[in-house]
Amino acid sequence: MVILSSASLESSINEFLDREVVRLGIEFRLPAPIAFGSVYDPLWFKIKEVHPQIKHPLELLPSAKTVIVFALPLSLEAIRSNVYGDDPSRKWLEEYVIANKVIESVCFRLCIEIRSLGFKCFYIRPTHEFNEISLMSSWSHRHAGYVCGLGTFGINNMLITSKGCAVRLGSVITEVTTEYSSKPTYEYCLVKRGLKCGLCLSMCPINALSRWSSGKYLCYERLVSIGSRYRSVIGEFADACGKCCVGLPCSEKIP
Ligand code: SF4
Ligand code: SF4
Repeated sequence: MVILSSASLESSINEFLDREVVRLGIEFRLPAPIAFGSVYDPLWFKIKEVHPQIKHPLELLPSAKTVIVFALPLSLEAIRSNVYGDDPSRKWLEEYVIANKVIESVCFRLCIEIRSLGFKCFYIRPTHEFNEISLMSSWSHRHAGYVCGLGTFGINNMLITSKGCAVRLGSVITEVTTEYSSKPTYEYCLVKRGLKCGLCLSMCPINALSRWSSGKYLCYERLVSIGSRYRSVIGEFADACGKCCVGLPCSEKIP
């Protein structure tokens, strides 16, 4: 069996990200947290029991061995600019659009590198891969990150990574075999750890998180409305909000 070291894959991902940072002049908080998980991890099946629409990695690439998930930590400037006001800050919206492009470009380059070594590899786009009626997606970067050990879920439904939950995520599925990451040994979210917090719930301007079964539709409506209202300002459809992952003890780090 051919094994590629996770250290070399990590350094490729961070090298690609570093180049993008220099090119764009955005202070993403690199290096990126990265996790490697086996496609045979039993947690994939547990996720499928709860969310049957989410594909198992082997349904996407039957010969796959490894899932790689990385987090692009958004800049302090974007995070802190988005704390106040009902609408998202311009900086947050701009960075959301750019971060998605950076992630896609890094996944693309990583796949080229892996394919050049003779392994199959593909990536899932960072966003807009869901059904607009059911709001269900056939892949969840957050759940993939959870299985691979990148972080744990907060009660805001975000993945809290070593650089907090104010991140964008990318996933790559490949035939490469590598060393797998160890998993978090405790819940990162304060409430899930039995401590006082819940600040994320009060950050949502439409109170969507406290009643998520109906709130998720309200959240989506808000994102679409923001995308439309700010299209001329941002120059692209930035369907983002992010109020529930800024100004929190878990925004930039593990609390
Ligand atoms: S703000 Fe507090 S309760 Fe909400 S996800 Fe973060 S740590 Fe958990
Ligand atoms: S993205 Fe915005 S609207 Fe949706 S849950 Fe978070 S704060 Fe609320």
